[in-house]
Amino acid sequence: MDRYGVFGNPIGHSKSPQIHRLFAEQTGQALSYEALLAPLDDFPGFARGFFAEGRGANVTVPFKEQAFVLVDELSERAQLAGAVNTLLKRDDGSLYGDNTDGAGLLHDLLDNAGVTLRGKTILLLGAGGAVRGVLEPLLAQAPAALVIANRTLEKAEALTRAFADFGPVAAAGFDWLEEPVDLIINGTSASLGGELPPLAPGLIVPGHTLCYDMMYAATPTPFCQWAAALGAQTRDGLGMLVGQAAEAFELWRGVRPDTAPVLEALRRQLSVA
Ligand code: NDP
Repeated sequence: MDRYGVFGNPIGHSKSPQIHRLFAEQTGQALSYEALLAPLDDFPGFARGFFAEGRGANVTVPFKEQAFVLVDELSERAQLAGAVNTLLKRDDGSLYGDNTDGAGLLHDLLDNAGVTLRGKTILLLGAGGAVRGVLEPLLAQAPAALVIANRTLEKAEALTRAFADFGPVAAAGFDWLEEPVDLIINGTSASLGGELPPLAPGLIVPGHTLCYDMMYAATPTPFCQWAAALGAQTRDGLGMLVGQAAEAFELWRGVRPDTAPVLEALRRQLSVA
């Protein structure tokens, strides 16, 4: 049976094993998938050991940049993201690295939520790995403007320079922002610590602005709570998680799973947890 897994540290919280088992059941694929705690001091050795037999793996915090330098070949989107979240061992033994985070976000926004991004104004909060992975896919949707706001402004400015050729992108500090926008995507890890970036209420048009938190939890994140209190539409990142997993599964197995029932099962489970 082909062996797959997700490498992270910590990894106990990962929903990936459940998602991929459901995908495998649904598509009739025989495979095993497990959560694997990779050592912080020897990720390359650990990954090579796994791929003596393993066929593919997802990579999560804090190893996406190390996976990027480990592989023999990168997809174009992984190259742009500067990070790898999906590994595939090819028949010739070489390792291929992909980044499916951006495709996962777009799947959730466009297919699940029915949003169009052409001509819209987007505010993207954060300048870490997740934001880097979604920037080019968002700009490819031809928004009117995309502003990256980050606590450490220099990082947002560096991303703006790196992605200037892909569309209308600009950088800002949180406290510079006042104008209403169509979509705010929280790609910071602030929600993990129960925090919220300092955002002006004027960014939100009640009933219109969509606020999307890449994080998900059983109860609404601080960002989604803030947005809902101001009358915004809100959405968390569970659909993005399932979407990025579906892209990885398709790369490994050549078959596209249906994300809707899997997202539904995970949502049900979160709500009773
Ligand atoms: P990184 O550690 O690479 O980046 C963290 C970012 O958050 C930085 O821009 C940092 O700013 C900012 N930040 C952290 N704390 C605060 C705070 N208190 N106030 C304001 N800004 C803050 O993390 P990732 O990019 O890998 O992940 C970001 C989030 O996205 C996480 O919550 C993660 O769970 C989620 N994610 C979800 C996915 C999904 O499938 N749903 C996929 C990938 C990520 P600074 O530069 O100033 O330090």
